[in-house]
Amino acid sequence: MTANIQTSRPNSLSARDAAYHFHGYTNALRNEQDGGFVVMRGDGPFIYTEEGKEYFDGLAGLWCASLGFGPQPRLVAAAKKQMETLPFYHTFTQKVASPVVELAEKLVSLAPVPMSKAYFCNSGSEANDTALKMIWYLNNALGRPEKKKVIARVKAYHGVTVAAASLTGLPALHNEFDLPIARILRTDCPHYYRFGEKGETEEAFATRCADNLEKLILAEGPDTIAALFAEPVQGAGGVIIPAKTYWEKITKVLKTYDVLLVADEVICGFGRTGNWWGTQTFGLQPDIITTAKQLSAGQLPIAAILINQRVFEALRDNSNKLGGFAHGLTYSGHPVSSAVALETIKIYEDERIIDHVRSIAPHFEREMNAFVDHPLVGDVRKVGLVGAIELVKDKSSHESFDPKLAVGPTLVKFAHEHGLIIRPVIDSLCFCPPLISTTAQVSEMFGRFSRALKDTHEWLKREGHA
Ligand code: PMP
Repeated sequence: MTANIQTSRPNSLSARDAAYHFHGYTNALRNEQDGGFVVMRGDGPFIYTEEGKEYFDGLAGLWCASLGFGPQPRLVAAAKKQMETLPFYHTFTQKVASPVVELAEKLVSLAPVPMSKAYFCNSGSEANDTALKMIWYLNNALGRPEKKKVIARVKAYHGVTVAAASLTGLPALHNEFDLPIARILRTDCPHYYRFGEKGETEEAFATRCADNLEKLILAEGPDTIAALFAEPVQGAGGVIIPAKTYWEKITKVLKTYDVLLVADEVICGFGRTGNWWGTQTFGLQPDIITTAKQLSAGQLPIAAILINQRVFEALRDNSNKLGGFAHGLTYSGHPVSSAVALETIKIYEDERIIDHVRSIAPHFEREMNAFVDHPLVGDVRKVGLVGAIELVKDKSSHESFDPKLAVGPTLVKFAHEHGLIIRPVIDSLCFCPPLISTTAQVSEMFGRFSRALKDTHEWLKREGHA
């Protein structure tokens, strides 16, 4: 066993992190042993650690650093100006700071379907919890208190707060936390490669998903089903691009039974899929949109919920009766975060970031397709500048490796050695580089990945698994 960081380099930030910081989504024993991975600065898609090592961050941090990790003078200026003018105000009892008004107006004008109002939070999780509370409140307001169940999908990711984690369809977020809460139902994940049956076409699979959703609604009773929460592309579940025709079929079912659609655009929003919104790329018709991350290029915490007129009217009319929508966060509509988000959107417009994503996406796709024939690669999926490569034991049957082998996490360790950070979701390796990445940088990312894949293949051969 190697020496513990706290004895080998006791004064390093890494050791002090181990001593004082409890991380989320981290193996605490490993952090105690090895210390924190301390990042000191960034430049474009690259970050630099305490030891001065360079990494390409292939996940834009947590799918959010759209403009990369270098300082953005315009965002610095926007934050500074707001901090010098009005560093804090809130949004309770009709109060509001000026950038919040401007941001709400901007978001409503950018919405992919007609939206009426924006509501602000600080994180994607809060946005989804809030959207759920809005839906429950709305159905009370409309005099249908039974219409409260919400549906989410297998492998969905909607966050970690109590309701958002319950909506998330990943067992690790439920098992040890006594979740999910009541009134959450689960429906299919539209992952054709993994869940399509032998001989079933992609369209037939999409029909089966929609039929199963309808069966679930009918079995529970349409009068009890309030909403479906869904990401246009399922991100943290493994970059799952919906099967062809899926969204048009799902939309039809939702409309038939008056079930609201909440599009969780926390990853997809602001250009990731080659349009401003994933809703546009895949033809969703949401009543509510939740968004965060790239809204501020990941630089300050802010999330927004967009609601349509029908939803707004139900909330408005009831709040008149009850004296107000009794939900709000101290930092709902924080002026500094809002000023930075507003400036981020202006940067996206001035620098034509969506055009850039569209121009670079074919290169991203070509680089990914180069792995299709590799013996370990089962599925390659991508849209815009987000994608995943799924490793399998058997290419023809799609059989996965034994999870105990930890093939995906092992590849990620090799990638680390080659200066690349990527996310494993079981054996799917996810790519989500900053939107500002150049073609040369995309090639650099996949070059590093290719070396890690080669190491993984050799390791599996040595172990007798390939
Ligand atoms: N929704 C989606 C689709 C996400 O990917 C995430 C975070 N990865 C969240 C919600 C939760 O956002 P946050 O971590 O800001 O709470």
